[in-house]
Amino acid sequence: MSSSGGIQIPSRLPLLLTHEGVLLPGSTVRFSVDSPRNMHLVKHRLLKGTSLKSTIIGVIPNTKDPEHDTDDLPTLHKIGTAGIAVQVVGSNWPKPHYTLLITGLCRFSVSSLLKERPFVLAEVEQLDKLEQYTTPATEGVTAEDGELGELSQKFYQAAVQLLGMLDMSVPVVAKFRRLLDSLPRETLPDVVASMIRTSNKEKLQVLDALSLEERFKKALPMLTRQIEGLKLLQKTRKMNPDNEKRVLSVRKGGVFPGRQFNLDEEDEDDDGDDTVALERKVHGANMPEAAFRVCLKELKRLKKMPQSMPEYALTRNYLDLMVELPWSKSTKDCLDIQAARTLLDNDHYAMDKLKRRVLEYLAVRQLKSSLKGPILCFVGPPGVGKTSVGRSIARTLGREFHRIALGGVCDQSDIRGHRRTYVGSMPGRIINGLKTVGVNNPVFLLDEVDKLGKSLQGDPAAALLEVLDPEQNHSFTDHYLNVAFDLSQVLFIATANTTATIPPALLDRMEVLQVPGYTQEEKVEIAHRHLIPNQLEQHGLTPQQLHIPQDTTQDIITRYTREAGVRSLERKIGAICRAVAVKVAEGHRVTKTEALTSEGPAQQGDKAALPEMPIVIDHIALKDILGPPIFEMEVSERLTLPGVALGLAWTPLGGEIMFVEASRTEGEGQLTLTGQLGDVMKESAHLAISWLRANAKTYQLTNMVGGPDPLEGTDIHLHFPAGAVTKDGPSAGVTIVTCLASLFSGRLVRSDVAMTGEITLRGLVLPVGGIKDKVLAAHRAGVKRVILPKRNEKDLEELPANVRADLDFVTTGNLDEVLSAAFDGGFPGTTSTHTHPQLTSKL
Ligand code: ADP
Repeated sequence: MSSSGGIQIPSRLPLLLTHEGVLLPGSTVRFSVDSPRNMHLVKHRLLKGTSLKSTIIGVIPNTKDPEHDTDDLPTLHKIGTAGIAVQVVGSNWPKPHYTLLITGLCRFSVSSLLKERPFVLAEVEQLDKLEQYTTPATEGVTAEDGELGELSQKFYQAAVQLLGMLDMSVPVVAKFRRLLDSLPRETLPDVVASMIRTSNKEKLQVLDALSLEERFKKALPMLTRQIEGLKLLQKTRKMNPDNEKRVLSVRKGGVFPGRQFNLDEEDEDDDGDDTVALERKVHGANMPEAAFRVCLKELKRLKKMPQSMPEYALTRNYLDLMVELPWSKSTKDCLDIQAARTLLDNDHYAMDKLKRRVLEYLAVRQLKSSLKGPILCFVGPPGVGKTSVGRSIARTLGREFHRIALGGVCDQSDIRGHRRTYVGSMPGRIINGLKTVGVNNPVFLLDEVDKLGKSLQGDPAAALLEVLDPEQNHSFTDHYLNVAFDLSQVLFIATANTTATIPPALLDRMEVLQVPGYTQEEKVEIAHRHLIPNQLEQHGLTPQQLHIPQDTTQDIITRYTREAGVRSLERKIGAICRAVAVKVAEGHRVTKTEALTSEGPAQQGDKAALPEMPIVIDHIALKDILGPPIFEMEVSERLTLPGVALGLAWTPLGGEIMFVEASRTEGEGQLTLTGQLGDVMKESAHLAISWLRANAKTYQLTNMVGGPDPLEGTDIHLHFPAGAVTKDGPSAGVTIVTCLASLFSGRLVRSDVAMTGEITLRGLVLPVGGIKDKVLAAHRAGVKRVILPKRNEKDLEELPANVRADLDFVTTGNLDEVLSAAFDGGFPGTTSTHTHPQLTSKL
């Protein structure tokens, strides 16, 4: 049957290749597409097109495995159905795909393929007439048409009989009835075959039946079979008339993948199997009573919903999550303190204090399993192994590990989920994490709690409080879930770079364990025990192929990295491994080609072609791979002019050395400060100048022309170079004083001394924080003497013995002592033995 008159479909059609359903003219089917060609078709044709014509596509059924059609186009079925895409819904879950709702128009045959990529475009020939449906049912095929007329009459009557057996009060059945009378008779086989239960194979037979007569012949037995099935069913169900309404669902044989047009009731039934499976899962999920009741309620709602409703997917996703959550699934703790100690020691070098505390924590857990203990919070610079200790803890306990990155989280729904009323609502990270690990007692590492943000969307810290509080977290309620989930079995560990920015309420619930940076020697050990073997393994190398001597490691640490942790060091070692891997691989390639060309055995070629093993990284090789050194020892070079002093600063990234520079010019006594300073720093500068002016006479400080007031006729500029980090905090007070004293006296500060300490107007030196990190930074930079506040003396005990041995510590109670320690041969006017009686009183 070829088209003559009526509406024409375009002669060139993009083809949708499906393997899951057969679209017949007059029916509407939902297709889920995710193969590359089909995705392109949707993206480039359906979503870009603006005309009605652009929504018409050809659906080719029964294509073999369209998911793997990236390369070769499979053999296409010759007949397809042109259809209008009436709805396109995109989703990224569980993988990117589109769901298309397509209403079939008419058959076509493929004449020739025009292109295969990005989607299939074909020249087609329209096979069915496409009239505007104005022809009354009585017209079209009539009794006068002989056998065809008879057939169509029979078919019509059978359809009426089927309808007679159904409950007319169901809207879809009523609709079916209306359709039956209003559609032209020749469309009936297609429409009915797509409505009753038929297998894909049967539908394909109807599709392939080009002559109307054949089509009726093919569809009629299916219709009769449905009627017989119903009769049988009604007989058996007489006892239970309630089921009458759902009688359509009892269709025998075959899958029924597509959604049928107008038969909404059928939509519901179609999911019958699906929802039954879901229901079974709900019963099997072993969830608490409250959650179970919510699930049953949602399940009930789901059953009533047609699948095309957007809410269907929402409810379905919700239920899927509910049954997946580990309500009562947990791993068994296997805690053996001895083994834990060995494991922690094997995984991590140094960090003794931290390891000891972690073992204590684990031991208490062993004795009292329901420990509502504090949350451990590891605080320290990046790359010192906080995350990796967390991972080891999970391993020693035999628990699952999950890391939740909190850096930059500023919306509380990130933690607690979105309410389900939002489109695209999701559970929060905690519930998501539980779903990922699949057990309810994992170790959760809350990474970077100090970087939580705050915004109009609520305070995530408040939500975290609820998560971490042992009194509350047994009934943590995620907004999305809307039922309580017991988090009390989860072991939370937090990490942060600094405690300063952790919200106080949160900090209050945590036990802070400081993880300071490493000394040079520790880094060398860590590199050789852990980092190098790890990196070798990750790059597929062996110690027989690459050797990094200790000297070279020292060199990398001092000249290519300046950090408290070992992350850059690890990266640099990675870079070396990559460079060596290239050499080794090249060697292999040479070997292979040689082996092919040479007559000798391949093994001999092997030995000859490879560079001598192991490849040893010496200083020259290091420079070749990593480039010229990034950090040179600059301390002594910088301290060659009066007006420069070396301070020690603490940042969340660890300790740092900080040069303070000062210069003076003729002027009116103004002070200029530059170098990204905070308010406290500016105040320290003013304090320092005031103290120096007040004591100018004692220390013989003068202005530019030798006058007794250093500020008279002089402008002063103080600068804090090195890095674009904001510097704030009072600990630079002594450095500023020393720097200015050097400027006003014209004397050089000792080139190997660094200092830290807060000052008062009366010249006292007050204690400061971060001593360990600061001293380690000084040690890294090659400083020999460190000037500290007297009351920080106790902090020195935490330092590794070798660092203590390398450095000369001068503890000071007042500025007089600072000045005498900072300058070679003391400072004129200072009395290093002199102590102020008021020192110990107030501070
Ligand atoms: P953080 O979480 O503190 O930023 P990570 O735990 O990610 O740091 O550590 C960075 C890398 O350094 C990891 O590969 C880790 O194994 C390694 N590392 C850090 N400290 C040690 C240590 N003491 N012993 C062995 N490896 C370490």
